[in-house]
Amino acid sequence: MALNIEKLFSNLSCKLVNIEGFNHHVQFESSGISSRFMFFSGIHLDEKGASVALKNWFEKNESVIPDTLKVFQANPESLKRKKRGVTRWTWHGPEIIDANRYFGNERGNYWVAEEIKTIAAQHPNLKCAFSFHEEADKKGYREKDDGRIETFIRDPNSFYMYDAFNAEESTSDEIMPLYNSLASALTKQGFSLYSGFDDYKNDPKETVQLNPVDNGYCPQASDKNNFLDGSFENWVITQGMKRSFVFEIPSRISEERKQLMIKIIFEKFIIPFLNQVCPDLNLPNIGID
Ligand SMILES: [Zn+2]
Repeated sequence: MALNIEKLFSNLSCKLVNIEGFNHHVQFESSGISSRFMFFSGIHLDEKGASVALKNWFEKNESVIPDTLKVFQANPESLKRKKRGVTRWTWHGPEIIDANRYFGNERGNYWVAEEIKTIAAQHPNLKCAFSFHEEADKKGYREKDDGRIETFIRDPNSFYMYDAFNAEESTSDEIMPLYNSLASALTKQGFSLYSGFDDYKNDPKETVQLNPVDNGYCPQASDKNNFLDGSFENWVITQGMKRSFVFEIPSRISEERKQLMIKIIFEKFIIPFLNQVCPDLNLPNIGID
């Protein structure tokens, strides 16, 4: 009985952080009897372009990848605001929070994170996650010789990705051949690869910043006990998923270019990766020249 009251309280408290939780629910689609591969986008409200391009790829390539769990619009809160963060109501008044930083806590989480955690728990065979975000920052960041951070103009065509993995079982080495093939296909199509820190704000309250990205690639060695930043993509590693990738699509390119980038990511990286980790799948190589 005590447990049920605890659960009720925790449900209530996460609903209370935002009234939208009463009217909206996170939508998902699953295929196959046991989903193994999770596709995820739209946790940030200003990243609709990546969600649309990801959905579009699955519409064109309906049955290419089996056993998927797809969450195209992870955050169902009002999209018309087109702001990255969401409002959480606290005793001190409204507070703007990053919706992708509330996956690690036991309670007091953002309601969207709670629903996504429930959906993932209903699919206990998930092995890896592929997450799509958009990068809107016009500035890049790098360290100067004196150790201070300087900004530079970020190429609006530039791509980068994170590779989060369980460091007890795996390394980034096994990913590099795939990444190199992705990187060369992207540059052939006129995209560039970002190098520098992913993000920097001179604010001690910012939870995650200064992740070093080298030529478009940022490894995040983690383990089941080392929860990096409260994001969905790091939370899944603590839940036993083998690997999660975040693809940062540049937000200032056209919808067609976003679709092209995502097509290349599937053909050069995701499908070859799935064939590497699950040889039983034997997925057809599509569009590979
Ligand atoms: Zn994002």
